[in-house]
Amino acid sequence: MEEIYCFAGNPLDRVSQRRQDAGWVASLLEDPATQVLPLHGLKPQIRHSSATALDWQSLAPWRPLIDNGSTLVLLGIREGRAYFALDATPAEIPSDGNSVAMDARTAAPLIDGGEAAILAEARSLIDWHDRHRFCARCGTPSVVASGGWVRHCPDCKAHHFPRVDPVVIMLAVRGERALLGRGRRRPGARFSCLAGFMEPGETLEDAVRREVREESDIRCGRVRYLASQPWPFPSTLMMGFLAEALTEEITVDPEELVEARWFARDEVRDMVARAAAGDPDPATTVPSLPGPVAIAHQICRRWANGVDSL
Ligand SMILES: [Zn+2]
Repeated sequence: MEEIYCFAGNPLDRVSQRRQDAGWVASLLEDPATQVLPLHGLKPQIRHSSATALDWQSLAPWRPLIDNGSTLVLLGIREGRAYFALDATPAEIPSDGNSVAMDARTAAPLIDGGEAAILAEARSLIDWHDRHRFCARCGTPSVVASGGWVRHCPDCKAHHFPRVDPVVIMLAVRGERALLGRGRRRPGARFSCLAGFMEPGETLEDAVRREVREESDIRCGRVRYLASQPWPFPSTLMMGFLAEALTEEITVDPEELVEARWFARDEVRDMVARAAAGDPDPATTVPSLPGPVAIAHQICRRWANGVDSL
């Protein structure tokens, strides 16, 4: 699966070795070329001019907020210039009409693909800091280190690192048919791939088979990895698979799904086309899929068009 999907393809050099050098990170804050992306309540500031883009700004006007302890994270370096994300929640949202704070899910399909990937990095990290202010081991307030990539406990000396939550998402396939489910929170007739969080001590393949079995009672054999996608709500890594279904009789887990069904390949192709054309009417009973921003859409599209197979 060689194509790059939404939130993938981050162009920044993360400088993971150098960012441990506090003096070097501090020098970037003094560099007038340095750019900062403000996030207001996790909504990135977006600029509408000739194109819609992340509203990168010079750092100097944000200095009082930074000195006041707002979270600042070094996202990376590109062409010699440093890029930071800033939790600007306490600041006013500018009202010049060209810049707005926009939900990341809404903004992502409107901006350049590489910028959407940077946005995923920024949103996940700012959110992580907001939720992890105290040492998980001893409860002491922790402090930011390594350009925002570590929280250090001044008391017990523990280091805490940003979390990534792996999710397996899969299309179970039996011959020319594929298994799709409809969740409780999805509007109308919106179907999708089955998915679930991995558990400790589990392989990816076992997680795929377990989730399909739990949600639909379908047993799976072979599992093939396709591609992954960062999903910054708050910090998931979606890992996409095809799975070989060995059985056909569906019994849904009512806690997870309203229904699950087998769809023929040409039906899936039609659903992909409808989803790509825009959000369906929530009242419709015509089955649809998530839009192209979601890896579920891409897995279905590629299988339906014969690009990927088991
Ligand atoms: Zn501690």
